[in-house]
Amino acid sequence: MVRRDTDIPVLVTSQIVINLLLIAYIARHTRDVDLLPASPPATAAQLWGALDEAWQEAFRQAWEALRTGNIPVGACASTADGEIVYSARNRVHDREGPPGEVFGSALAHAEMNVLARLPFRHRRDLVLTTTLQPCLQCAGAIRLGPVATVRFAGRDRYWDGCHDFGRLSAREAQRTQPARIGPHRDELGTFATLVSRLGYVLPTYEEKLRVLGEGPMIDLVYQLRDDGEVERLAAMEVAQGLEYLWPRLVELEKALPA
Ligand SMILES: [Zn+2]
Repeated sequence: MVRRDTDIPVLVTSQIVINLLLIAYIARHTRDVDLLPASPPATAAQLWGALDEAWQEAFRQAWEALRTGNIPVGACASTADGEIVYSARNRVHDREGPPGEVFGSALAHAEMNVLARLPFRHRRDLVLTTTLQPCLQCAGAIRLGPVATVRFAGRDRYWDGCHDFGRLSAREAQRTQPARIGPHRDELGTFATLVSRLGYVLPTYEEKLRVLGEGPMIDLVYQLRDDGEVERLAAMEVAQGLEYLWPRLVELEKALPA
């Protein structure tokens, strides 16, 4: 087909419209950037089905951390085109773990266990997907690791602002920091944060979370524990757990601060 000169303004206009739609979508759904569809899925099954494999794997790892009595957070490294390189979970209470992973230590976070398995001088364009906003330790490890982009689902208000190493030194301020995508401002994000609190939460940590507005979530955690629902959840698959908790996630979203 021969392109006529008169086609060019049409093509440019189309591209402008596409860009405007993209910007409007990003502004509506994210603080940084978010990859959920413009029309949020209406059900747990639809939301779960729309997640790519790296997201599903990170959540499966978080669920395994829940089942094994660890802090329920999971993570996964993948290539830019979605091929999973390594996935891991939190192992703070484990007495053993795969070679190269950290376990039985306060440092044994999911992101650390993914990054610890990546070879030195590994290709530096990996995507790290994690169910919860990285803590200070993991943000530092991500900064040092071969990660171009970090994606996280649940917000962890306790660690807000602890990823900005550009404020620490002039050199860091001039270096490109990993791009951040998250948190998810929907039931998936609320699910990820809630699940991460289903393990043991230190009283001092709980106190700080309540100050940050997470009281309704902590109250729900106690309710789920007292009613034996945490055990029932752990017996399910993670997608079933999302579906089981869905009505309460919808209510919880309304009760938490923006
Ligand atoms: Zn961490």
